[in-house]
Amino acid sequence: MAHPKRRHSNMRTRLRRTHDALKTASFSTCKQCGAQILPHRICGYCGYYNGKQAVTIKAKKDKKEA
Ligand SMILES: [Zn+2]
Repeated sequence: MAHPKRRHSNMRTRLRRTHDALKTASFSTCKQCGAQILPHRICGYCGYYNGKQAVTIKAKKDKKEA
């Protein structure tokens, strides 16, 4: 089995891990009902996308307050 020639430094490990932090999801607001939704997706509360009714929502969800 191949082995690493040298142990790499603490700094090298830390530099790699600078990219490991989790980021909060970004939200946009629905222009129709004002609910917080994921961008580029149909609103799950009113079914609108890009100002048009894309799908009809059968069961009414409670609108999440931001
Ligand atoms: Zn909506």
